[in-house]
Amino acid sequence: MKDISQQDIDTYVTWCQQHLPGFAICYKDESTLQKWIGALLWPINKRYMTAYTTVMFGKIYFPSRETVALWPKAQMYATLRHEFVHLMDAKRFPLWFEISYLLFFPAVLTMRAYWEYRGYVQNLLVEYERTNAISEETITWIVERFVRSEYGWMYPFRQHLTNILQRTKQRILKGELRGPYPYCEWGKETPT
Ligand SMILES: [Zn+2]
Repeated sequence: MKDISQQDIDTYVTWCQQHLPGFAICYKDESTLQKWIGALLWPINKRYMTAYTTVMFGKIYFPSRETVALWPKAQMYATLRHEFVHLMDAKRFPLWFEISYLLFFPAVLTMRAYWEYRGYVQNLLVEYERTNAISEETITWIVERFVRSEYGWMYPFRQHLTNILQRTKQRILKGELRGPYPYCEWGKETPT
C-alpha cells in the first residue's frame, strides 16, 4: 500500500499547471461567483456548495478548505486526478463539454456520463497505483454514482456500466491504461 503524501499532491499540482496554464485550486466558499451559482441551484441542489467538487474556467473548485482538510490525502489526490481529466476534456472539446453539463436534468443517456466515465477511470488508476489492485467495492461505488439521482441519473443501465468498468479494470491491471490523462503520461509527451 502506497500512501499519498502532501508532497505527491504538490508535485501533481505543479504538473497540472505545466499542462494547463492557469490551473488552480479554488474554494467555493471564497468565490463570489460560486456563491451566486450555489444560490441559483439551491432549489434543485442544496449541496452544491458543500458536497460537490466542480471544474470551471480551467480551475478546480472544492467546497472549502475545511472540507478538504478532513479528506484523506489519497482522496484529495484521486479527486485531483479525476477533475484534471474534466479540465483537459473541456479544453479539447469546449462546446460539447459545457453543453452536456449545463443540461442538468434527468436524462436517460447523457454525454455527461461519458465525461464522468473518463474521470472515474482516474479513480480506478489511483487505487491501482496505491494498492496494486482494484476492489469490487470501488466498481460498485462508481456505478452507484451513475445510476442515482444526485448526478441526474447519468446512466441508469447498471449492468452495462458494470461490464464497461470491469473491462476498464482489466485494461488497467494489464497496464494498457495508465497515467493522469490518456494523452499525457508522467514526464513524457505534451497534451494534444
Ligand atoms: Zn467528475
